[in-house]
Amino acid sequence: MGEQHPAQSSTCPLDAVDRRLADTHNLWHQAEAAYFDPDGFRLAVQNAIQTLRSVTFILQRHKGAIPNFDQWYGDYVNEKHGKRGEWQVRLHADPLMRWMVEARNRIEKQGDLEAHSFVRAEIIASYLDEGPRIEIPATLFQSPRNLLRTIPAGAVGQHVRRNGVLRLQRRWVENTLPDYELLDAIAIAFGKLTELVHDAHSQIGLSPPRMIHDDAGESYDLPAMGWRFPCMIAHDLPRTADFALADGSRIEYEEKRVSKKATPADVTNFLRDLDTDPRKVMWGKYDNYRELAAGYFQMFRSVFLRDHYHISMLFLFRNMKPIKQMQIIVENTPQKYLIMRQLANEVTKTGADAAMLVGEAWMEFQKNLRLYERPADSPSRREALRADLVSKHGDPIECIAMINRDGDVSLEGTLINTGGAAFEFAHFYRAWGRPIPHSWIETSIAVMARAKTD
Ligand SMILES: [Zn+2]
Ligand SMILES: [Zn+2]
Repeated sequence: MGEQHPAQSSTCPLDAVDRRLADTHNLWHQAEAAYFDPDGFRLAVQNAIQTLRSVTFILQRHKGAIPNFDQWYGDYVNEKHGKRGEWQVRLHADPLMRWMVEARNRIEKQGDLEAHSFVRAEIIASYLDEGPRIEIPATLFQSPRNLLRTIPAGAVGQHVRRNGVLRLQRRWVENTLPDYELLDAIAIAFGKLTELVHDAHSQIGLSPPRMIHDDAGESYDLPAMGWRFPCMIAHDLPRTADFALADGSRIEYEEKRVSKKATPADVTNFLRDLDTDPRKVMWGKYDNYRELAAGYFQMFRSVFLRDHYHISMLFLFRNMKPIKQMQIIVENTPQKYLIMRQLANEVTKTGADAAMLVGEAWMEFQKNLRLYERPADSPSRREALRADLVSKHGDPIECIAMINRDGDVSLEGTLINTGGAAFEFAHFYRAWGRPIPHSWIETSIAVMARAKTD
């Protein structure tokens, strides 16, 4: 750890570099604000790409201020001049960063980028991204009728029509970078150069903050967010509209945060009549996430036994310490598909390395379920208190206790299983850069294959 970054930025030796980065952030927001104005968008995006590119030029002009610059960054100009140092090697190996360099050259030497505005229409009918998807130029967009024709017949189709969501989203895409939405591409590249600038400060013995705090008092861990600001993550949601396939209604969903300040009276009230002390559970020391899940489940059991119900909550953890909790309110399956995607952004923003979802659930043996039938719809279903924990490195852990409501409400013993298919958390795995385990996909393929023969 070096010295703190000077509060007065003009006294920082890398002030000019810091300012270009801040300018890029402002231009990115200008582009976002002009998303539906093609000329304004093009202008702001091109300015953002040029300004971002100038960060490394200006950094090279300050090489005198940075010890060991040639090894740390490099002095490569072209094949005949200079040699790549550590950072130049890293940036050169990154296809997105190379695209940024080429795009800036095209803007300066040839003219505009070839950016096009699309409407992406996709059907979401599970926690995995396996649904059909089409992209239509915004100017030609009339209706997603063609997409709806692709819904298969039979049990799969029935499931999709009943629980599926049609998601429409405006996107700007450049011809030579088809896999990225353009603002997202710039946000990711911005993150990579923010890391470079942070590292440049470390090189001269300064340490700018790695954590930032927003107005609502939440703190964010920049390295965990790929060095982007929270405003540059999930920026696509305001340009997204979701419709239930069952009745065509627009889906709105809410996420209630429990992080609001609890009064001392709230706390006393919550602690009354519990035979497990939540404070001991939440601030306890755990050696691994299985121990933690078992400890928390003991607390969920005592809350359930006192109240005879348990709300749905998501807990986020880092290094086995709780960092955030949210109450989750969903009314139906389509909402749940969407909210689990949205909650995955919280994992990215908070740098969580584990997440646990607790609530009441309907349970049914797979053998008693018809294809695509949900346990909630099965006549022989049973109620359970259930918590699922997924983590960045380990296997999923599920804790289950069956509920008896005849006469006195009671809970059966806790069952703990590891290594199940935690479909609901597919997007959390994506946030951690983990591949979806093969076994989950095989389960999904097996269901689909059975569907075709039914
Ligand atoms: Zn600085
Ligand atoms: Zn911002």
